[in-house]
Amino acid sequence: MAGKKLNGTVIVTYRCNARCTMCNRYKAPSKPDEEISIETIKKLPEMYFTNITGGEPFIRSDLKDIVRELYKKSDRIVISTNGFFTDRIVELCKEFPQIGIRISIEGLEQTNNEIRGLEDGFQRGYKTLKVLREMGMKDVGFGMTVQDKNAPDLVPLYRISDEMGMEFATASLHNSFYFVEAKNIIHDRPMVAKNFEELINELLKSNSPKKWFRAYFNHGLINYIYGQKRLLPCDMSFDTFFIDPYGDVMPCNGTKDKEVMGNLNRQSWDELWNSPEAEKVRQKVRCCDRNCWMIGSVSPAMHKYIWKPATWVMAHKLKSLLGGKYSMFENKIVRDYRDGRVTKKQLDDLSTCDLSAVVNNGLSDASQAQLKDRSGEEIVDADIAEQMKR
Ligand code: SF4
Repeated sequence: MAGKKLNGTVIVTYRCNARCTMCNRYKAPSKPDEEISIETIKKLPEMYFTNITGGEPFIRSDLKDIVRELYKKSDRIVISTNGFFTDRIVELCKEFPQIGIRISIEGLEQTNNEIRGLEDGFQRGYKTLKVLREMGMKDVGFGMTVQDKNAPDLVPLYRISDEMGMEFATASLHNSFYFVEAKNIIHDRPMVAKNFEELINELLKSNSPKKWFRAYFNHGLINYIYGQKRLLPCDMSFDTFFIDPYGDVMPCNGTKDKEVMGNLNRQSWDELWNSPEAEKVRQKVRCCDRNCWMIGSVSPAMHKYIWKPATWVMAHKLKSLLGGKYSMFENKIVRDYRDGRVTKKQLDDLSTCDLSAVVNNGLSDASQAQLKDRSGEEIVDADIAEQMKR
């Protein structure tokens, strides 16, 4: 496709071996024989950035082939993983030392293992990161989804990542078909915001401009958990896309139900991207009120509307140099809540949490059918046991 390069996320599988409390995807796995093929990957457009995610991407034993193909069309690739399959990750990194790896770690050892439900998950993830560092991999780091339970671990975990010279990516709770979840919500917003405030001040103290922009991202997370309008426009589906294991191209992973622009198994990229269906999805994005603040939709916006984060960064770095500190009360809504002008119920109503929602998991009919006799956990556990025998 001629034209500018895009930002893409490839969901290579919906199979997952973790049991995270904030994501039910492990209960709704894709069928391996339906998952995105190399032939479909070959049809993707040129990208300046590609995120490979799942489920757990390393469950796919052909991930190396996928990465090899994607490097033909992408300037930079980052894989999001739970870090469980250390040997597979190391093997892949030997062939692609320039690749980025983000391992989800949800707090210090006990908190992480309780949230992710992976046996020995913290030690495995941590060990994987250390091995990658020792191999000389540069683009490796932690990814943490901040919620009530792990917010007190936010700064301690950042310090560990900082000491190891690693990236530290944050997120907060979201609800969507992708997470097969509609009930995620932050309960104690001031406590969680306080921890973000501390992290923001740590990041602003550093000498790294990248970290100063991360501080802005975390400032946006405080805004998000108070249910406010996004700090930057959302342009998903205009120069950014997600593709799911079935080849369905979508604007993002934040919508309540799956929104499909077209299917790359059946269509060419140009046909799909310029179709009336894609245009309809773009119209919906323009009116979307979910106000997600996830790196996938915020990073392209931060590049596109750079003046806004840059102004914030300059003002706050200067303040930090002069001995001042960022305060969460710079956000009007945080002051309004503190001063009783807004109630918790009003803030809860602004969130995407919907206790009565019936969640659409976005599975194909065939993937859904396999859940008739067995749970998603049983299917994936048997699948991994079989893979380990080979
Ligand atoms: S705000 Fe953007 S990322 Fe979130 S659901 Fe809407 S379109 Fe998707």
